[in-house]
Amino acid sequence: MSDSQVPDPESALDREGFQAHVRAWFEANAPRKGSPEDFSAVHVVNARTLEEYHEQERHALTVTRRWQRRLFDAGLAGRSWPAGCGGRGAPAWQDEVVAEEQARWGVSTKMFAVALEMVPAVLFAHGTHEQRVTHLPPILRGEHGWCQLLSEPGAGSDLGGAQTRASAVDGGWSVTGQKVWTSHAGSAQFALLIARTGTREERSAGLSCFVLDMAQPGVDVRPLRQMSGGYHFNEVFLDDAFVPESGLIGGLGEGWAVLKTMLASERAAIGGGTSARSATQLVGLARRLGRSDDTAVQDLLAAAVIRERVLDLLRSRIAAGHQVAAAGPVTKLLYSEHARLTAGAATEILGTAATVADDPDAAPWIERLLFAPGLRLGGGTDEIQRNVIAERGLGLPR
Ligand SMILES: Cc1cc2nc3c(=O)[nH]c(=O)nc-3n(C[C@H](O)[C@H](O)[C@H](O)COP(=O)(O)OP(=O)(O)OC[C@H]3O[C@@H](n4cnc5c(N)ncnc54)[C@H](O)[C@@H]3O)c2cc1C
Repeated sequence: MSDSQVPDPESALDREGFQAHVRAWFEANAPRKGSPEDFSAVHVVNARTLEEYHEQERHALTVTRRWQRRLFDAGLAGRSWPAGCGGRGAPAWQDEVVAEEQARWGVSTKMFAVALEMVPAVLFAHGTHEQRVTHLPPILRGEHGWCQLLSEPGAGSDLGGAQTRASAVDGGWSVTGQKVWTSHAGSAQFALLIARTGTREERSAGLSCFVLDMAQPGVDVRPLRQMSGGYHFNEVFLDDAFVPESGLIGGLGEGWAVLKTMLASERAAIGGGTSARSATQLVGLARRLGRSDDTAVQDLLAAAVIRERVLDLLRSRIAAGHQVAAAGPVTKLLYSEHARLTAGAATEILGTAATVADDPDAAPWIERLLFAPGLRLGGGTDEIQRNVIAERGLGLPR
C-alpha cells in the first residue's frame, strides 16, 4: 500500500479529538519521563573517549530510528506533508499537537533534528519535486539522518566567506574544502552543503546549496575532542567529493536564499526547545531535595516558570499564524537564555551535590550546564540574533 492510500480516519477530527487520539497512543506506546526506558536525552552524545562516542552515537541512532518508525507506522509523523512525500496532507496544527504531546514523554527525535526540522523547510521552499519525493519519505520513516555542512574554520557567523569549492565536472560537481563544528556528521546519510560555485569576490552571491551523500570516499569525518574531554562535533574534510546534477538545491548561485530558509527553520527549532519543560523538572528537583520552602529557591523557580511560560506563549502565537517580528531569532535567544539560567539555578539548588561525579540528581543538570554555552553559538550566535532582531524586527540601521 502506498503512503497516499493509508486510511486516515484522524484527518476528520477537530483539535480536541485529535489530541485525545494522540495522547492515548502515547499513553500506550511511549516510556514515561524518568522511567528506565526514558531516552529523551539520547541525542546528547558527549562521550569521554572516541570509542564511547561511537558507541553512544550508534545507540542513539538505533533508538531514534526505531521510535521514528513507530511514529510513522502510527500515522503520526509529518502529517501535514503531502502524501507523495510520506505525509497525509493534514493541517499543520496536527504536527504541533504531536510535537507537544511527544515533549511530555521520555522520547526524543532530536538526533534527526536536521532531517525532520530543516531539510523539509528547505526542500518545500527551494527543492525540486524529485528531491522532495526522493528524500522526504525515508526521513519520515526514520531511515536517513542528515547533517549541515555550513561552518568552516574561517567562516562561521560570516558564511558569505565560505571557501569550500564546488567545481562543475561531468554529470555534476566535485567538492573540495573543510567544514567544522558539524553535529552528527558520523551518523548522517546526507548533508545540506553550502559551497562556492562563483568567485570569492561575489561573497554570498557566489554560493550554492547541495545535497551531499556522506557515504563516499571523498568525505572524511573526524570527531573533535573538546576542552571538557568530551566529543560532540566533527571536522569534515571534502576531497573531490561528488554531487550529481540532481543534488543542486535552488539555482546555481542561489545558496544564500536557501541558507536563509535553513537558518530560520533551525532557529525556530532550537527556540522550540530541545529540553522543553525544564522549569517543571527544576520544580521537581527542588521538591525532591526538600528545598522548595527556601525563599531564595522559590525566586529561582518562579523566574524559570515565567521564562518557560513566555516562550510557550510566544510559540503558540507563532503557531497560530500571528505576525511576530524576527520570530526565529527571538525564540532562539529566549531559549538559549532559559537553558543557561535554568541549568545555573539547578546547580544552586543542588549545592555541593553539583560537584559530585555521577550524582543521579546532578548528572542531567551538569550535562545541560555544560551544553548551555554551545546553545548560544549553534544556529547563529546570540550577537547575530540580536543584530537580526534589531535590523529586521525593529527596523534599526545596520
Ligand atoms: C552546539 C553547536 C552545534 C553546531 N552545529 C553545527 C552544525 O551542525 N553545522 C555547522 O555548519 N555548524 C555548526 N555549529 C557552528 C556554529 O554555527 C558556529 O559556531 C557559529 O555560527 C559561530 O561561528 P564561529 O564559531 O566561526 O564564530 P565567529 O563567527 O568567528 O564569531 C566569534 C564571535 O564574534 C561574534 N560576532 C561575529 N560576527 C558578529 C557581528 N556581525 N556582530 C556582532 N558580533 C559578531 C560572535 O557572536 C562570536 O561571539 C555548531 C555550533 C555549536 C556550538
